[in-house]
Amino acid sequence: MKIERALLSVSDKSGIVEFAQALNQRGVQLLSTGGTAKLLAQAGLPVQEVSDYTGFPEMMDGRVKTLHPKIHGGLLARRDAESHLSAIAEHGIGRIDLLVVNLYPFVETVAKPDCAFEDAVENIDIGGPAMLRAAAKNHGTEAGGVTVVIDPSDYDRVLNEMDTRDGVTSFGLRLDLAKKVYAHTAAYDGAIANYLTSMTADPEQTAVPERAAYPNVLTFQVRKTQEMRYGENPHQSAAFYTDAAPAAGLLANYTQLQGKELSFNNIADADAAWECVRTFDAPTCVIVKHANPCGVAVADSPLAAYQKAFKTDPSSAFGGIIAFNRPVDAATAQEVSKQFVEVMLAPSYDEGARAIFAAKQNVRLLEVPMGDGANDFEVKRVGGGWLVQQPDNFNVPRDQIKVVTKIAPTAAQMDDLLFAWKVAKYVKSNAIVFTGNGMTLGVGAGQMSRIDSARIASIKAANAGLSLAGSAVASDAFFPFRDGLDVVADAGATCVIQPGGSMRDAEVIAAADERGIAMVLTATRHFRH
Ligand code: 5GP
Repeated sequence: MKIERALLSVSDKSGIVEFAQALNQRGVQLLSTGGTAKLLAQAGLPVQEVSDYTGFPEMMDGRVKTLHPKIHGGLLARRDAESHLSAIAEHGIGRIDLLVVNLYPFVETVAKPDCAFEDAVENIDIGGPAMLRAAAKNHGTEAGGVTVVIDPSDYDRVLNEMDTRDGVTSFGLRLDLAKKVYAHTAAYDGAIANYLTSMTADPEQTAVPERAAYPNVLTFQVRKTQEMRYGENPHQSAAFYTDAAPAAGLLANYTQLQGKELSFNNIADADAAWECVRTFDAPTCVIVKHANPCGVAVADSPLAAYQKAFKTDPSSAFGGIIAFNRPVDAATAQEVSKQFVEVMLAPSYDEGARAIFAAKQNVRLLEVPMGDGANDFEVKRVGGGWLVQQPDNFNVPRDQIKVVTKIAPTAAQMDDLLFAWKVAKYVKSNAIVFTGNGMTLGVGAGQMSRIDSARIASIKAANAGLSLAGSAVASDAFFPFRDGLDVVADAGATCVIQPGGSMRDAEVIAAADERGIAMVLTATRHFRH
């Protein structure tokens, strides 16, 4: 069946006049609601107001506009059922073959910091979703059905099919558009549920509700960006979903300039590397393997930062993910290309660097714009549930760090301690990180006991031929006993940064004094699991 009648009722009016003009040129009769009809009439289009068509006025500030059997009958009548077609004919109801609706901007309205509760409620669209759901349900069969458009970027798709198929849309397109509608109305209702459940009526002040930290019902506005060949292992299927609008500076804003498709593990590791590198102000390089930094360094240039970071653990860096917080130049690209790299991340690459990587097509080259945005929350799946928390965005200010030993760190030691502390936040717990001269010297990650992480960090430094004499060390949480401290002191550390807060702090501090070590406490720990 040809598209003969269209109903247009949109809040986002972008492209609607041009689309209506195109429909009019193709002989489609236009029906529309107040604001949309006005706009189309101003553009000189012959348009009939829904209220004239139904003989029923819009009322109650627009709460009731299209909720009428003449509209819903026209959308819901099955095109392949004689009884339906005769029912609408009997009641003077015309078929509506094309529905063009987008909804009151609820999400945008409640996102405004000063949004009043009444405004939010008035922005709950009722007639729009009702029509969308009716039209999408009746997407029909090969023989015919309703075409429903919710997204202005689909206007051209519909016109193209009308032009190539004699005014008829294909079942495939109608089905595709119907799927989009239900995904949208589900998310729309989810956002309303989120908003309302985040409100608790204050019994003292009757009406003005407060926002709670987390709503009772969580819905995510995400889209599937990529289907992967597999997940963490080849027998697991996987996909990458991204926020509709990721905050500035986050990985999901990446552009891939070259290389094979990103895998599940690539994305997880790239995120670990990027989150770590973007916390530093000076030119920094972070090399990640299996979600842990295996080399981090700050220097005057990206090249020098890479050379230092690589030295921490050259064998682990093989096949690593390498991130920079500065544009990458040809000299850096040349140096990095000497080893096998899975993924590179940087805010940009100059022409020379691009040319060098072009000869290494396996390297996945990602450009990620810098920015200081953060996720609003993090989620972790557990059996039958989700753990939700704020991201660990806290960086302890220098003036809140307390010296607790007889000796205080020198200025240079303090720089190394703060550097170690920043890195430790991105190392899986239990984390022990040795540093010196702006580079990691040994990283102990993910052990079930702190003392083992300390031992492993020392062993790794020795394996890389690095001396820990005079090094600084960070522990992501307190030392429960003095034994962990003795291990780092034996290895050569002369200053330590840790949160403190253990029952045996006094014993650990006394041990530091006994070993001639300077120790500072942050009062904040950074577990990462
Ligand atoms: P217009 O700007 O054309 O006056 O209104 C367009 C908006 O009204 C669209 O977002 C559409 O979803 C919404 N709408 C259409 N019919 C109804 C209705 O009966 N009730 C409500 N609350 N909204 C409607």
